Amino acid sequence: MKCPACGYPEMVEKTLDETLSYGGRSLTLNGMRGEFCPACGEGVWDEESYGRYINAQADLLRAAKGDVSVDIRRIRKNPKLTQA
Ligand SMILES: [Zn+2]
Repeated sequence: MKCPACGYPEMVEKTLDETLSYGGRSLTLNGMRGEFCPACGEGVWDEESYGRYINAQADLLRAAKGDVSVDIRRIRKNPKLTQA
């Protein structure tokens, strides 16, 4: 698919471990699948991985409530997978 951020035509499918860190805490998600842009680094998770990412992010935010210095990479949902 085309990169939603910069328009690069060929994003690369990858499975990787994603580490989220926030407020001095960190959490690693294993086997996250998605497509990634080699040009700008934008990532688009698949449906299942995106769900896990969002849940983990919410857990971290809850754990570190009060700290506003968010340092979490913004990842968008793959629109192709959600528009039936
Ligand atoms: Zn890109």
